[in-house]
Amino acid sequence: VDAIGHRVVHGGEAATDPIRITPDVKTIIRDCTPLAPLHNPANLGAIEACERAFPHVPNVAVFDTAFHQTMSPASFLFAVPYDLYDQHGIRKYGFHGTSHKFVMQATADYLGIPLTNAKLITCHLGNGCSITAIDGGKVLDTSMGMNPLTGLVMGTRCGDIDPGVIFHLLNSGMSGGDVDALLNKQSGLLAVAGIGSSDMRDIVAAAEAGNERAERAIDMFVHRLVSYIGAYFALLGGADAVVLTGGIGENSVCIRGRVLERLRGLGCILDSKANERIRGNGVVSTPESTLKAVVMPTDEELMIARETIKVLTSGPDGM
Ligand code: AMP
Repeated sequence: VDAIGHRVVHGGEAATDPIRITPDVKTIIRDCTPLAPLHNPANLGAIEACERAFPHVPNVAVFDTAFHQTMSPASFLFAVPYDLYDQHGIRKYGFHGTSHKFVMQATADYLGIPLTNAKLITCHLGNGCSITAIDGGKVLDTSMGMNPLTGLVMGTRCGDIDPGVIFHLLNSGMSGGDVDALLNKQSGLLAVAGIGSSDMRDIVAAAEAGNERAERAIDMFVHRLVSYIGAYFALLGGADAVVLTGGIGENSVCIRGRVLERLRGLGCILDSKANERIRGNGVVSTPESTLKAVVMPTDEELMIARETIKVLTSGPDGM
């Protein structure tokens, strides 16, 4: 083993790039624990286990939040008292950064557009879902926030919700922990479809068999996604491509078709035959579309390996 790359969920504002792990970097990861209480301690545990098992092998942290650090305050601030941001770090961070960055680079290569000119809307649609607006390699906005709970409808997470709902539930006797579990683990497609599964394959099959709530769950999923694509198209001032990735984006002919049918007004016209055919990468919009739709499988492990090599071969203490 020459090197070990770690996916670390939260790097806060201190981590803008992948970095070789030192005691200071471990302090950054530890300091971000209040922002990711389930993930960061587990990530640190894995790093320390690797340090013990491979004492002379360098470790690199690749942060899920780092790619989104180019967002401006207009994108990342919440409209709440300012000291919540500058004293307590309460702001939008965004997640799935490694995946969005990977498909951004792969799509620019595939379309032959220089990254510095590319305007892309990348949609990571898996169990967790997020969407990012990227201009010239830099993130303008992304749908996940301080936690990975907000934005798109997900397998078991609610995505965007009126915060008033949370006060209502608390005031009606639920505990904070119960509300947390409700919105993270018992919501999303699982809750709306009501068929005991959050798997999009099961939900599409149930809808095709006439289950109305499964149909409604798909409608909500598509409606929310199209709303974000429209918003990001406007923010970017037009876009070259919408990129679909993650288990659903890479495989679900049904969801891809339903989303693309709604993007005609943005200049993206569904190529049904290509959509039926494509697994792996490919264009699922017609050649005359001014906004292309590209399916691009993500590969976070490969991205982490590449970033690890880059960090270790470019610095003064390179391998
Ligand atoms: P991921 O988190 O990227 O592994 O994605 C998991 C999600 O992808 C689950 O909701 C799966 O149902 C969905 N998925 C995987 N394969 C397919 C498929 N062939 N059709 C529809 N959804 C799929």
